[in-house]
Amino acid sequence: MERYVDLDEISDGRRYTAEDMVKIGCGDCAGCSACCVHMEQLILLDPYDVHRMREIPLDTLMQEHVELMVDRGVILPALKMHAETGRCSFLNDEGRCSIHDMRPGICRLFPMGRVYEDGTFHYFLQKDECDYPNKTKVKLKKWLDTPMLPKYEKYILDWHSFLHSLQDRASDMEEGTLKKIDMLLLNTFFFQPYEEEFYQEFYRRLDQFGAYEKQILSDI
Ligand code: SF4
Ligand code: SF4
Repeated sequence: MERYVDLDEISDGRRYTAEDMVKIGCGDCAGCSACCVHMEQLILLDPYDVHRMREIPLDTLMQEHVELMVDRGVILPALKMHAETGRCSFLNDEGRCSIHDMRPGICRLFPMGRVYEDGTFHYFLQKDECDYPNKTKVKLKKWLDTPMLPKYEKYILDWHSFLHSLQDRASDMEEGTLKKIDMLLLNTFFFQPYEEEFYQEFYRRLDQFGAYEKQILSDI
């Protein structure tokens, strides 16, 4: 989830790219699952996160592992955390992620974050988020463990900018209109499997969303 914080307070003051080395290596998190429990921020999912989990039937995913949350007026899927224990529903009894290969982008990123500024984003280190001692240096692109990283980074930037703009527009929408837009968003990007190459289909759906949104607004 997006936060508005003083970057100097929570980071080491540096901006990183995927080519940089960062001191975040934590021995494969052996014996620790701190960042999968009591997450202070919601782990909101983007369309590629849901696409990554496509081996899990959508109804199982939605009923057992995902809940819908309102973020700046817009409904989005987020990882479900157990109400009492605060554990992510994908955390197994051994304290390991049961969907490691399919885990969402935010989980791949942690303890790094993204700062969006001047039409692009950089990575930053959330310096107090992982207590693992004697961390080692790791190349960030290896840490992110994401295929076709440049395409993914462009998509992240475009999704962020689309969502931001939609959230700004949502603040002026009436409840009935916003409900239609929310359903359109979920149906367009999350509930329908991506049959073609993900990024190609994502951009086609982005255009489609714009056309349908215009139609909904013109019907008011
Ligand atoms: S807090 Fe650090 S060591 Fe613990 S699970 Fe998270 S990244 Fe791994
Ligand atoms: S999906 Fe996996 S890595 Fe992410 S919070 Fe849940 S258990 Fe942790």
